[in-house]
Amino acid sequence: MSARVLVVDDILPNVKLLEAKLASEYYDVLTATSGPEALEKVESESPDIILLDVMMPGMDGFEVCKIIKSNPKYAHIPVVMVTALTDATDRVRGLEAGADDFLSKPLNDTALMARVRSLVRLKMTIDEWRVRENTATQLGVSENNISVMNEPVEKADILVVEDQDYDSEKFVDTLAQDDDTVTVVKSGTQAMERIMAQPFDLLVISLNLESEDGLRLCSHLRSSDRTRSIPILMVAADEDMSRIAHGLEIGAHDYILRPVDTNELLARVRTQIRRKRFQERLRASFEVSLSMALTDSLTGLYNRRYFDVHLEKLLEKNASSRKSLGILMMDIDHFKSVNDTHGHAVGDEILKEFAKRIQDGLRGFDMVARMGGEEFVVLLPDVRRATAYIIAERLRKSFSEVPIKCATDTGELIVTVSIGGTIVEKGTRAEALTVMKEADDALYQAKAGGRDVCFFHEIGRLEPEDYIPEPRKFMD
Ligand code: GH3
Ligand code: MG
Ligand code: MG
Repeated sequence: MSARVLVVDDILPNVKLLEAKLASEYYDVLTATSGPEALEKVESESPDIILLDVMMPGMDGFEVCKIIKSNPKYAHIPVVMVTALTDATDRVRGLEAGADDFLSKPLNDTALMARVRSLVRLKMTIDEWRVRENTATQLGVSENNISVMNEPVEKADILVVEDQDYDSEKFVDTLAQDDDTVTVVKSGTQAMERIMAQPFDLLVISLNLESEDGLRLCSHLRSSDRTRSIPILMVAADEDMSRIAHGLEIGAHDYILRPVDTNELLARVRTQIRRKRFQERLRASFEVSLSMALTDSLTGLYNRRYFDVHLEKLLEKNASSRKSLGILMMDIDHFKSVNDTHGHAVGDEILKEFAKRIQDGLRGFDMVARMGGEEFVVLLPDVRRATAYIIAERLRKSFSEVPIKCATDTGELIVTVSIGGTIVEKGTRAEALTVMKEADDALYQAKAGGRDVCFFHEIGRLEPEDYIPEPRKFMD
């Protein structure tokens, strides 16, 4: 998995060293030697991950990080602070500026590669969701206003797997500051029981358990669909570096070294919770977009969801349009009795053919949607009044004059339709609710007026001889 890594350091040999290490692992490396240059590169090159030196003259790493993380366009790009300082307060400052991780100079190669790889992987996941989310937004079925940094981090459910009481108490006390609910267990078996019983936002797992290997638990959690996406924060000692690397390799999200610094713990936990909530929200909104898929599965027509958005757009456009917009609401007559007499499957066949006929009877830029059941709506942009009448009447007759082939005794059936229409006059800004009600009222009148007929708002029953140039061929 290749990725673009931006290396920022004011000392050129440091840049060159990191560049060489990353390039040998086949990463694309971009470089910058100052804060402002880094910001330019973020803007122009959109890197997948940023390795950011803390101590730089002028604009330091904290400031650069803060600027990146406060911009919704870039906030999702992982930032790793690279620092010579081992001082815990600096780490905390970095995390508070929004940094996602740290590396200390001199750089440990295993830690460098493991962290870069794990953050790149996370970035790829987020990118994937962002792309889908964008598509959904363009289709008008979701609002894209998600910012990573605005995700709340409080009240998380956290499971701690730790058999050293001193440390587990520290976790409980520290995380209480964020109103997190912390459950402590002492073994992998107990952990699995709890995880199966209740959802957790984060798992904190010790790699130094007395009687088992915490890594095994991490690996087990990663291999199951149900637990794969729960973030894992490993707790380990300095000398566990190769096991930490292995843990990150198999999908643990982060680690913290003993002795655990409480501020660092809090900050790292917040980062994981924020990410998890961000991903959940993206996924949720994407799933919603999917479930309100734009088309109806039976007929292949647009569904109501799409229609609503589309109507809104057309009404907006109509305000400055030089032609009017026609809206036809169509409802099959006595459809319930079709179902009752011939069965639901025949009903479905008819709905499919019905949809097809409407579509065939329309112009390419007209639009038809199935609003539900046996009710359909047609939007006719850029029509003159008379044209809308002609189209409505043509649609009605396409049913009353030609039977639909279907699995009845005779192999066909005539179904008729009632149509209620309204015209949104050119150059006006009408409300969707109003125009839909006008069409609906007209449809109601059409039903009351005997069915198999078109009614229009303002004029009532459509008299074909008034509006249709050619004489009627035949009517039952
Ligand atoms: P009206 O002339 O007043 O419109 O009478 P109607 O029977 O057409 O209207 P009503 O609203 O009473 O009944 C609509 C029927 O459409 C009831 C429902 O079973 C049927 N229906 C709705 N969706 C589907 C579908 O997807 N497939 C089938 N086969 N029937 C459906
Ligand atoms: Mg009906
Ligand atoms: Mg109905």
